[in-house]
Amino acid sequence: MKVKKSFIFNIAIAIVVASLVVTLSDKGALKRIKLASSDFFFRIRPPLRVSPHIIVIEITDDDIAKIGRWPWERTWHAAITKALKQFGVKYIYFDMVFSEASSEKEDALFGDAMKDANCVYLPFAFQQHSISMKDALFPIPSFSSYIKGTGSINIYPDIDGVLRRVPLLFVDNEGVKMHIALRLAMDYLNMSLKGIANNCMIIGNAKDRIRIPLVDGNKMLINWLGKWEHTFRHYSFLDVLGAYKDCLDNNKPSIDISSFKDSICVVAVTAIGLYDIKPIPLEAQYPGVGATLTVVNNILYRQFINIPPGWCNWMLIYILAFLPPLLISEERPLREILSVVSVLIVALLGYLLFVINVEIDISLPLLALLGSYIAVGTYNFTRISMERRSFFNLAVTDGLTGLYNVRYFRMLMKTECMMARDDSSKSFCIFMIDIDHFKNFNDTYGHQVGDLVLREVSEVIKNSVRASDIAARYGGEEMIVMLKNISLDEGLNAAEKIRSNIETHLVKDKDNVCKVTVSIGVSSFCYDDDENVLIKRADDALYKAKRMGRNRVETIENVVK
Ligand code: GH3
Ligand code: MG
Ligand code: MG
Repeated sequence: MKVKKSFIFNIAIAIVVASLVVTLSDKGALKRIKLASSDFFFRIRPPLRVSPHIIVIEITDDDIAKIGRWPWERTWHAAITKALKQFGVKYIYFDMVFSEASSEKEDALFGDAMKDANCVYLPFAFQQHSISMKDALFPIPSFSSYIKGTGSINIYPDIDGVLRRVPLLFVDNEGVKMHIALRLAMDYLNMSLKGIANNCMIIGNAKDRIRIPLVDGNKMLINWLGKWEHTFRHYSFLDVLGAYKDCLDNNKPSIDISSFKDSICVVAVTAIGLYDIKPIPLEAQYPGVGATLTVVNNILYRQFINIPPGWCNWMLIYILAFLPPLLISEERPLREILSVVSVLIVALLGYLLFVINVEIDISLPLLALLGSYIAVGTYNFTRISMERRSFFNLAVTDGLTGLYNVRYFRMLMKTECMMARDDSSKSFCIFMIDIDHFKNFNDTYGHQVGDLVLREVSEVIKNSVRASDIAARYGGEEMIVMLKNISLDEGLNAAEKIRSNIETHLVKDKDNVCKVTVSIGVSSFCYDDDENVLIKRADDALYKAKRMGRNRVETIENVVK
């Protein structure tokens, strides 16, 4: 089977487009497009399961209005610690770094509460992008000795400022440090770190193991659960303390404290202007603590986003870029609809995989498909237009002289006659041109010289008239010319110009120099002429010119001077 050259070109274009997309993506130039497409899936997929055992105790604007300016005296933290311990929580996590001492009495109270509870986690914070413990901010030593566990609170947004990943481990020559989210989840599940291999982290215990996929070496992609307001259970700080007071007073507590049992309670500031707000794929303002809790939830329920190896993405880019060459077909234009169908299929496939927590990037493959579709489509359109143009030229021109053929000339003349009949101000002339004693050239020098004479005379005719005038080969050594918008008088002058240009033009080949003359019969449109009548009058005029000695211009019409 012979493969069409245009098909090979189409495939080459597809390869170039796909390679361009892959190269740009490798250089990081298309990162934002990729991120935006994964964000879109987060927005449209159904929400994930949220643990009822993760509870947020929020320090709200209302609480601050009632208790006083932040930071509060640490008695309040001691009180909430006691309250939560009383409610039977498993862990208490304060999402704040107590790196500075306050009054000795306050710190002692809070320290004692933590010691009694024996379930409090306090984070530390690395400074900037350093992961050295020397630069980190730690809780004051008297607190550190009473806490159950610690971990880093750091989360770094992506280049567009959006939170999407959390560094779970920080490894340097000082050892391994964990993110507080990993610490809390591992302790809650009674698991420990087993190792890191092949872009995965393994945590486990004697009975079970969890494989956490990592990106960029140490980060976990956050599998967002939903909007902040609709995910974890929230209680206000003062409501919890109120419920605690109710318990102490033997009254029925205002909130359901039974649900606190065995939960992870997080005390965090969510008052406007005081807490760390970052955009996430689902909403523009999301508290940083929410990212930490989402990671804990993800680990508890094994909701990990799996990223297939890079070559899968490359393959998809090349496959989609190849679709336009295979689908765009002149013979079957309906097949192009399949390109749209394939876009929908890929988008649906990407979505369905996302729902089962496998994130394939569909933005770059679709970009490659679009690029290839435009490039291949443009190439094919240009090629077809050029082909059509050359077919048209072939159909309307005379092969030897390059002038129009008589069939096309008659068609144009018919139109011109119709226009002139409708508009009496329009007039045009016809020249019938015949080479004098042409037979002699053939007989004396041979047909090749005869052909050369024909070609050169045609060229002189073409160059002697305006671009808007139409010159055609009428047959044999006769040419016909239509000159638009001129009177008979002007026509006779134009014919004379042609005649004299031909007379002065010498046709030369290797061995011979020939002098050529022509006789020209001129007719001009009047009243309701049709093309046959006009041609007939020009022919009669030509006959008259021949009779009168050749190499001259004649008409049989009356010239109005
Ligand atoms: P007149 O001045 O009366 O027009 O004389 P003439 O010799 O030009 O006229 P005639 O009709 O006797 O001869 C025309 C010749 O043109 C006859 C034919 O062999 C020749 N001819 C027609 N078409 C072609 C062509 O395409 N190439 C060549 N070389 N000769 C052609
Ligand atoms: Mg002739
Ligand atoms: Mg002739």
